[in-house]
Amino acid sequence: MRSQAKKSGSRFYELRCVACDRRVREEESSTRCPTCRSPLEVRYDYEYIRSRLNRYSLRNSPIKAMKYLDFYPIENLSLVVSLDEGGTPLYRCRKLGEAAGYSRLYIKNEGANPTGVFKDRGTIVELTKAKEHGAKAVCVASTGNMAASVAAYATIAMMPCYVLVPEGTPIGKMAQALSYGARVLQVRGTYNDAFGLTEEMSQRYNFYLAGDYAFRVEGQKSQAFEIIEQLDWRVPAAVIVPMGFGTNIAALWKGFKEFHIMGLIDRLPRLIGVQPEGCSPIVAAFNRGQEKMIPVERPNTICSALSAGDPLDGVKAVRAIKESGGCALTVSDGEILEGQQQLARLESIFVEPAGALPIAALQSLLTTARVRADEVVVCLATGNGLKDPRAALRVLPSPPSIEPSMQEVDKFLKLKLYEIRAAGAKNGERNLFTEVPSKGALTDLVNKEFGIRLTPEYSQRVLGLVEDFVNKGKPVTKADLQYILETTLKGAPGEGVLKVEDFQVTTTLHGHAQAKVWVRFDGEQLESSGTGVGPVDAVISALKTAANSRGRLFFELIDYQVEINAPGTDASVETTLVLKDAQGNRIVATGTSPDIIVASVQAFVDGYNLLWARQQS
Ligand SMILES: *Cc1c(COP(=O)(O)O)cnc(C)c1O
Ligand SMILES: [Zn+2]
Repeated sequence: MRSQAKKSGSRFYELRCVACDRRVREEESSTRCPTCRSPLEVRYDYEYIRSRLNRYSLRNSPIKAMKYLDFYPIENLSLVVSLDEGGTPLYRCRKLGEAAGYSRLYIKNEGANPTGVFKDRGTIVELTKAKEHGAKAVCVASTGNMAASVAAYATIAMMPCYVLVPEGTPIGKMAQALSYGARVLQVRGTYNDAFGLTEEMSQRYNFYLAGDYAFRVEGQKSQAFEIIEQLDWRVPAAVIVPMGFGTNIAALWKGFKEFHIMGLIDRLPRLIGVQPEGCSPIVAAFNRGQEKMIPVERPNTICSALSAGDPLDGVKAVRAIKESGGCALTVSDGEILEGQQQLARLESIFVEPAGALPIAALQSLLTTARVRADEVVVCLATGNGLKDPRAALRVLPSPPSIEPSMQEVDKFLKLKLYEIRAAGAKNGERNLFTEVPSKGALTDLVNKEFGIRLTPEYSQRVLGLVEDFVNKGKPVTKADLQYILETTLKGAPGEGVLKVEDFQVTTTLHGHAQAKVWVRFDGEQLESSGTGVGPVDAVISALKTAANSRGRLFFELIDYQVEINAPGTDASVETTLVLKDAQGNRIVATGTSPDIIVASVQAFVDGYNLLWARQQS
């Protein structure tokens, strides 16, 4: 192609297949090669771009994605769809650097984009192309972030947006897509199932297919441009990138190369790609020295954004890492959550788990000498933590509820309740007891593992719960002990008015559940029974009857939740009940046990006692 030709109106770029090199007209396809189904790539007439580039304005205008329009394959600039994306901060991270042993560490905070993720940069180009092509609607398969981003831009482009996500996509991402007005379907399957359906849907209904395709790469290049500018036109030694579909690392590489081709920089960084252990087909291919991916059937990782078992741009990613002289590695979910916490605590950057992979990789890159301590290293923090708050909460304490009294505040501070969950997250699956320990041994162990000195009264209660676990034949793991401690320390102070001595419950598939309970109410022994739709209901109804025969405490049960503590075959559960009385007092109480009924009874009794104490005062 000649630059002369461009000025008379023909295109200054073309689409080519990365595998068979076939030239593809974008009217025919802008997603995959019609011949071999491989990804396409945009190739430019760089002479033309060079001739148009205004170097003065490039160096002097504010940094944001829209300033690089010359590098995007957009023909009709009046159609550009933008929410003022990019221009995200590049932070020098001294504290994190020191902790990880790096002297010149930077974080590019892509969570600061309009929908909280770098994908917005690609969506500008993609949706602008959709408009150029006169699309009436777009559809996209996504693990969540792509859905939210495409939905946001489809809205300002005034196009309906159809989104297919795997069932169980994090609520933060789902809430975004739905709020932007997307028509969302949850597919019972993996991302790849959703992906296949979406391709078919776009054919059948003639929807514009958005996703990890060639035009998106062009927009996402701006991350590389910005990094160079923000380092004052210097080139970092290495850029560490989380990989899912491999599109983004390919985009970064293309961006660095284009600045190089334009003579704006004189060398290129090494790209380091990181994937979670539970889904790492690109890392595996790279380390085998191959471009071919072996798909991962069932991705298993806490990083929803990286659950790409059969990554479309795997080939581009492997090439980018190889050409750049970089490397690829995996990190575990545990390391990822730790990296996420480290980044938040040392640098106040809260990312979703996928965004923490570069941090999680820092240590191992240093010890294996793949990066030197004094090199300029940029970590890409890809997505905002609010997208998936539940992931972070796994290793954070659930804030205890207290009575509005200073004693309760004192207790919280003295017992360091705020440290418990973090301590429990490390080696949570380790067995601590299979038999009931002595009170002394228990107190010592709690002090050693959690840094908490239990008072004799609390020791007794913790011991009681440990006994329950052991008697049910469940070894007590560190995670179990953490929940036991939280439940105990958050519970009613002192002896409660209601105590359960035993219960019995029978239930059948079609009939009501019947329960009998034996309790002490203010020291007096009582017995009563109840029925319910299920065993928990029946026991709680029996307890209510017993308590009300003496107590006359009015309340309603307004919420009930069950969570599995540490997933696995012999998991224990944590139940949470919310009770409300006639005055509108609300009490949140928890219970923990390997047995869901026992955990519910504990929570109920605790809630009841708290409410009782509240009403007596
Ligand atoms: C999409 C995404 C990634 C992975 O990028 P790919 O282009 O799929 O490799 C990483 N982090 C976040 C937060 C993402 O949304
Ligand atoms: Zn091809």
